[in-house]
Amino acid sequence: PFELKGRSVYVAGHRGMVGSAIARRLASEDVKLVTADRREVDLCNQAAVFDWFAKMRPQVVFLAAAKVGGIVANNTLRAEFIYENIAIAANVIQAAHQNGAEKLMFLGSSCIYPKLAPQPLREDSVLTGPLEPTNEPYAIAKIAGIKMAEAYRSQYGCDFISVMPTNLYGPGDNYHPELSHVVAALIHRFHEAKVAGAGSVVVWGTGTPRREFLYVDDMADACVHLMKTYSSAELINIGTGEDITIAEFARVVAEIVGYNGEIAFDSSRPDGTPRKLLDVSRLEKLGWRATTPLHDGLKRAYAAYRQSIE
Ligand code: GDP
Repeated sequence: PFELKGRSVYVAGHRGMVGSAIARRLASEDVKLVTADRREVDLCNQAAVFDWFAKMRPQVVFLAAAKVGGIVANNTLRAEFIYENIAIAANVIQAAHQNGAEKLMFLGSSCIYPKLAPQPLREDSVLTGPLEPTNEPYAIAKIAGIKMAEAYRSQYGCDFISVMPTNLYGPGDNYHPELSHVVAALIHRFHEAKVAGAGSVVVWGTGTPRREFLYVDDMADACVHLMKTYSSAELINIGTGEDITIAEFARVVAEIVGYNGEIAFDSSRPDGTPRKLLDVSRLEKLGWRATTPLHDGLKRAYAAYRQSIE
């Protein structure tokens, strides 16, 4: 096992939902946590990243920085999503190698798998078929990051690993009405409807796509577990192993928020990929399982949302 104790650990993206959860989780690990604000180092700027790494020389890197968003953000900001995510991965992975980082974890995404790959999605289905078009630029950038980690391992012997999280939610999510992911979007929309006493809330698409949702603190715990115990070029999926239709999911969010009106589906909005359930058998064999049930996680996410708007 890889000892985190006493090491300097850089969390790239510590202001984001995932990076901040990893930083919270590391508080209980005797490490020297290192972070840098965007003003201090813009991860898209190669010179800034190289200078910062040469100065700080972190021993361990969690690469949780990314430009992220929901289906509309991915589909409309296509150039920004491919450029920024390739730049972040390229700069940080090369800088980690150049400055002797002992271990790096690259965070990918379940959208790297082909749109019509067999479900649940196994790690070895990457690059076996065409991607879902709405998030292809993001997926290509994430595949580039995975392949970099793999190449640096094979050519330079770097202990760089890649994990593929399913759809994540929790405190620190982005609640933008157009650009967010479905969990934050629906918490926000149902809450506003409840407060306004509205009789109907619109949910995008047909309601039939199926998604798997993992609470972000569970994700952070899995990342720390794998950082300590895993070392291989093979990808590792991180999820719950359970999925739900968007229509059912919307009813659960409505119940938690306390919205009692109607739920309408707008099929002029994109559904995206029909199903995205991860096969988590590899993760479970490595001794980790999600512990936060969807209902509990959503209650905590809703509480965090209410705090954020106070
Ligand atoms: P995806 O998993 O990459 O497709 O990311 P999203 O979280 O953006 O969307 C998941 C599913 O939720 C898709 O089928 C969307 O059409 C559906 N959905 C329903 N309502 C919303 C909404 O208000 N915002 C978003 N982002 N998705 C929604």
